Amino acid sequence: MPGLKIDRYDSRCALCRQAEADKTGSHLAPNFMIHGMFSYDGKGRRDREIAMRDGLNWGERMVYYGSEVSPEAINADRAHDLTDEELEANVNNLVCDNLFCKSCEDRFGILETYYSPYYANWKQEDVNPRVAYLFWLSVFWRMCVGRMSIFLKGEDEFEMRHILEENVTSLESIKNGNNDLGDFGYVLWRTKGLQKGDSGIFGTRTEHSPYMVVINDIVVLFISNVSKLPNYFFYAGWRIEKDSINTFETDGEAVTEISQEEFARLKRFVIDESEKYGWGPAQEKVKVSLRERDRTAGRLHSVGINDEKYALEIARIQDSATPKPMFLRNSDKFFMAEIKEYACKQVGKKYDILQDRSLFMFQFDIDNYKIDIKNYIKKGMDVSFYPYVDKLFDRKYWGGKENYQRKKDKIKEFYDDVIAKGYTFDDIMNNLRTRSGE
Ligand SMILES: [Zn+2]
Repeated sequence: MPGLKIDRYDSRCALCRQAEADKTGSHLAPNFMIHGMFSYDGKGRRDREIAMRDGLNWGERMVYYGSEVSPEAINADRAHDLTDEELEANVNNLVCDNLFCKSCEDRFGILETYYSPYYANWKQEDVNPRVAYLFWLSVFWRMCVGRMSIFLKGEDEFEMRHILEENVTSLESIKNGNNDLGDFGYVLWRTKGLQKGDSGIFGTRTEHSPYMVVINDIVVLFISNVSKLPNYFFYAGWRIEKDSINTFETDGEAVTEISQEEFARLKRFVIDESEKYGWGPAQEKVKVSLRERDRTAGRLHSVGINDEKYALEIARIQDSATPKPMFLRNSDKFFMAEIKEYACKQVGKKYDILQDRSLFMFQFDIDNYKIDIKNYIKKGMDVSFYPYVDKLFDRKYWGGKENYQRKKDKIKEFYDDVIAKGYTFDDIMNNLRTRSGE
């Protein structure tokens, strides 16, 4: 399975800008963090991966299905079979080909090899802050040049490349160096006990600091111009003290341990922010193409500010002709919950969505869903077709409606279909990620 290949204007390595970018299979988010979180049935076989990776615009959510993922799992995931176009585009989107040269890839390897045991054992207080700082700087920078979930401000991206290029040489020289490594900083939150499917790789799309990403069980806020910050500020519902921000000069590395619900809230924040600030497809195309030209030229605004503004304005007009997709948070999970409830009813069991660990839903998710449905109602839409509406809303929104009956028929049909294909009750409870009758 090939990796993602990015359209560029030259073939040189994105870090050193000297050698040919001959490396294939480069990870943007470190492999030791994401390894094992993606396989759909927990068997850990390579081709059983479902990898969700956010793109940069609101229309794009890249999903990569390994060749052995069952069609039913794909259907449950996206509510339709893969089209030819999607199959064609089904590359392993967790890695990039021809973005870096072999020797720069090895330089990232120095940071990853050093950091990975600290990640595995949660002993970040002993970590060397200069190496940890460069490690996180390299993650954000790589995700940006690989167009994975975030898009840094040009000035930040260029400065980060410069810092990495100058300083990532050998582990000893990073540890023992005493030069200035820049004015960036980061805050870490981490939770314990996540299961497969609870997380992924997500990022905010604001083109300025602070930037936030979720990678597996860790949430990272990355900030530029730390020295100019006020003593504290609020972000994602958290009060961030300036003193608590990790820099290359702090003692070790501070990580705040959070509950799974707090983690789920931060992940929700990141996804909602990306929906809010993501561009349309036309603007994304222009933005990444302009940045790619700048990377090749080695300076920002290389096509000229006026030409840049003009191209972006045209793209903005193009995007405004396509309305943003409607926002219905977790609709796929509520659909799955209805199937599960139906399955439970067949065997005389009770189903409670909030007790269903495999869906990883909290009360705030239900509240958000109600808010979204209410917005549909305000627009005068018939919401009776949507899952859970009969449980969360007054009868007048669904009782006796034709679409409500259609939904009930669809649930039954879906259920009969998966049973006929050999899925058991337990498989359904496992979100169709397993098939015992196989
Ligand atoms: Zn290189």
